[in-house]
Amino acid sequence: MATINLVEELQKPVPFSGPDMPDDELLRACVHCGMCLPSCPTYRETGDEASSPRGRLWMMSAVADGKLSLLDPDFDEQMYQCLNCRACEAVCPSGVQYGPLVEASRAQLEQHRPRPWWQQLLRQSVMSWPFDDVRRMRTGARGLRLYQQSGLSRLLQRTGVLKLMRLENLERMLPPIEESPLAPGKDTWVPKAKLANAHVFNGCVMSSVFPDVNRATGRVLAHNGYATDVPVGQGCCGAIYSHTGMLDDARVLARKNIEAFERAGDGAIVVNAAGCGSALKEYDHLLKDDPRYADRAKAFTARVLDVNELLDQQPLIPPTHAINARVTLQEPCHLVHAQRISAQPRSLLRQVPGLELVEMQESSLCCGSAGIYNITRPKMADALGDRKARNAMATGAEAVVTSNPGCQMQLRTSLIRNGSEQPVEHIVSILDEAYGGRTATGWAIDHQ
Ligand code: SF4
Ligand code: SF4
Repeated sequence: MATINLVEELQKPVPFSGPDMPDDELLRACVHCGMCLPSCPTYRETGDEASSPRGRLWMMSAVADGKLSLLDPDFDEQMYQCLNCRACEAVCPSGVQYGPLVEASRAQLEQHRPRPWWQQLLRQSVMSWPFDDVRRMRTGARGLRLYQQSGLSRLLQRTGVLKLMRLENLERMLPPIEESPLAPGKDTWVPKAKLANAHVFNGCVMSSVFPDVNRATGRVLAHNGYATDVPVGQGCCGAIYSHTGMLDDARVLARKNIEAFERAGDGAIVVNAAGCGSALKEYDHLLKDDPRYADRAKAFTARVLDVNELLDQQPLIPPTHAINARVTLQEPCHLVHAQRISAQPRSLLRQVPGLELVEMQESSLCCGSAGIYNITRPKMADALGDRKARNAMATGAEAVVTSNPGCQMQLRTSLIRNGSEQPVEHIVSILDEAYGGRTATGWAIDHQ
């Protein structure tokens, strides 16, 4: 009898349990209407209901109701096949908050699904090590800069060594790293006539691989009246952890950033990476059960503004240099869907003299970058990247504009793979150029 009970117990579906369970009320908000299906990139690619938001929400509800096991391989597959692009959330008439639900489902998988030792080691070394302390990532970026500038990169490409080591795609993603990272606490930009204070969120990938964009952000903000600095003590936003179910690790970084920007004093916290901005704006949710930080997280979140959002609050100080070119806009998922910022970048680009904005098809469909998705799931990521590249190329634009480092790298690789030489620019770099770039004088003092 006892044996039969044990067998029955072992066969019972494993339910959600412990901390960070998907919120039942949020789950029940889905009325299964299916309106989100056409906006879902994985559904568009596969045509499979299981790969749709409705299918995934059904699976989450089935685990919550004890009808499906948390350890079912199909559940695992669907929770991680999802790009967490939030396109479904933006179109849902019932207001289903899909992002927090998929992140909580992944947190449950991380807590209850045993991982092989090698995967744990990989997570600690490849993932956690550079993100826990951004100085390590910046040191790595300095090494990459040396690698690019010494000619070793070209040599390994020409001799086929990179292809042999299957590192060709990873290498292609990297732009030339031409500048050193900003110096928190030292780099400041002083406007001619001060409107308010602004503090730049430095980021991890942005500060290491695109330090030129962070400098351009400081200059453009100063042109528009913001006394701008880069507060010390800040780190990675933690999105990499929240998106992979490692919510406690994300909380450690969130507390660190809250403290750093509290010390920095009043003023907006300005973000030029859509993924980071979305994560920073959700610290209130991430820390809602932390008695010491819940209110501080709310105050922090209220100060966060994407750079597009801040600059478009009022007409731009007129840019002085015409850029005679046609560009097209790729909308990062975490800007357009998670933060609902879509009109602002278009409005800013239209204020640049000489610039023509041509719209591409499916500008808000995920490009396949999605954090580390393009590394962990290259097949789906490449399919979405190719789709995006074809849409960008069809516009005949001379450059693609976006505002997220992950999208910049994914678009660059996808365009090259599809035979295009269209450069990919951050919107702030375009605005900076329209103000005369780093050589501009008389507007802002750039201490480098
Ligand atoms: S998530 Fe929203 S749009 Fe999608 S099926 Fe559910 S209620 Fe409908
Ligand atoms: S987050 Fe994106 S990929 Fe995931 S279900 Fe929603 S639309 Fe599909």
